Amino acid sequence: MFTFSARSARIGESATLKVSRRAKELAAAGRDIIDLSAGEPDFPSPAVAVEGAVEALRAGFTRYTENTGTPQLRGALAERYRRQYGAPWTAADTLVTVGGKAALFEVALALFDHGQEVIIPSPCWVSLPEQVRFAGATPVFVETHGEDGFRMHAEPVLRAMTERTRGVILNSPCNPTGGVIESADLRRIVEACAERGAVVVFDETYERFLYDGAAHVSAAAFAAEFPDTVVVVGSFSKTYAMTGWRIGYALGPRPIIAAAANIQSHATSNPTSFAMSGALAALRGAEPDVCAMILEYEARRDLLIPALNEIPGFKCRPPAGAFYAFVDVSACFGGDVSGSLPFCEHLLETAGVAVVPGVAFGDDRYLRISFACSRETLARGLERLTAVAAARA
Ligand code: PLP
Repeated sequence: MFTFSARSARIGESATLKVSRRAKELAAAGRDIIDLSAGEPDFPSPAVAVEGAVEALRAGFTRYTENTGTPQLRGALAERYRRQYGAPWTAADTLVTVGGKAALFEVALALFDHGQEVIIPSPCWVSLPEQVRFAGATPVFVETHGEDGFRMHAEPVLRAMTERTRGVILNSPCNPTGGVIESADLRRIVEACAERGAVVVFDETYERFLYDGAAHVSAAAFAAEFPDTVVVVGSFSKTYAMTGWRIGYALGPRPIIAAAANIQSHATSNPTSFAMSGALAALRGAEPDVCAMILEYEARRDLLIPALNEIPGFKCRPPAGAFYAFVDVSACFGGDVSGSLPFCEHLLETAGVAVVPGVAFGDDRYLRISFACSRETLARGLERLTAVAAARA
C-alpha cells in the first residue's frame, strides 16, 4: 500500500471538486449543464496582452528568466504600488509567481510553521486555510456575517490573537462573500501585527471588482509605515481575464520575498517567460479592457441579485466586490437535503445547474453563484433555479 507524508494528509479534498466532477460527468453524458460555479472570467484576454506574448515568442523570448520574474515586470509592478499607494517596494521586493495561488503558497511556506496560528476571516477562499495547514500551522477562523455584507472588522481579529499568532491573511474583496475591509479596520490589524512581529498577508486578487463606486482599500497603503509587516499578493487572472496565463505576484519586506523566491527556485523556477511579457503589456495598456469588464460585472450583479431574492428560500445581499453572489439557502433545506453540499447536488441533478456549496468556504448555509458568465447563461440558470425552488416549496 501507499503511504503519504503527514504534510499531504493534513489537507483535504476540496468539497467544490465533488460538484464540479459530477457536473463534468453529466455534461459528458450529454446533459445541458449551466455552470455557475467557475471563478473564471468569461472574457477573452486583452488583445494587448496577447500581442505582447506573441511578439515575445516571435522574438525568441523562450528561455528561463530570472527566478523571481523579469526585471521589467517586477519593476512595473513595484512602480504601480509606489505610484498608487506610496509603497516602499522596488523590483527587488517583488516576486512574480505562477499565479496568485503560488504566491500565497510560497509566502505561507516561508512564514508559517508548526505551533503557530494564522487568523483568517471566514467564510474564505478554500486554499487559504489549506495552505496554512500544509505549512504546518493552524488556521484560526474569525467569522464575518451576512447581515453587514461580510465586512471584515478589526475587533474580532484582534480578539483572536494569541502569543502563537504569526499572521493574518485577509482577502478583500473576498471570494466567496464579496465582503471588503475598511481602511480603519485594516490599519488596526496591521498595527496589532506590527506590535507582535506578525505579518499581514493581503490577497487582493479581486482588487478591481468593486461596485457602487466604492474604492479598493489595500494594505499596500500601510507598507511605508509598517515596512516589516505588510505582504501584498495579487494576480493577473481575474483583473485581466488571464487565468490560464498563470501570472501572479507578491510584494513585501525583502527578506520575506527572498525566502518565498528561494522556495520558488526549487518548485517552479520562473513563471513562463512570454506570459510575463503579455502580463507587462496588460499592465501598461489594458486599462480600457478592464474598465469595460468591470462595468459588465456590475450590470450582471444588478440583474442577478434581485432575481435571486425572488426565488423562494434564497436570500442574498448585493456583494460589495468580487464576482460572486453568496446566497443563504438554508430555508430550502429539509428532507433529504440537509446542507449546502446535498443542496448543490440536488440542483445539479434536477436542474442541471452547477454552483458551489458554502461548506467548502466554511458556511454550510450558503452557496456561491459566479456571475463571471454571460447574462444569457445567468438568465437560463435563474430560470432553472426558480423552477427547482418552486418544486421544493
Ligand atoms: N485568491 C483568491 C481569493 C482567489 O479566488 C484565487 C483564485 O480563484 C486566487 C487567489 C488565485 O488565483 P490565480 O492563482 O489564478 O492567480
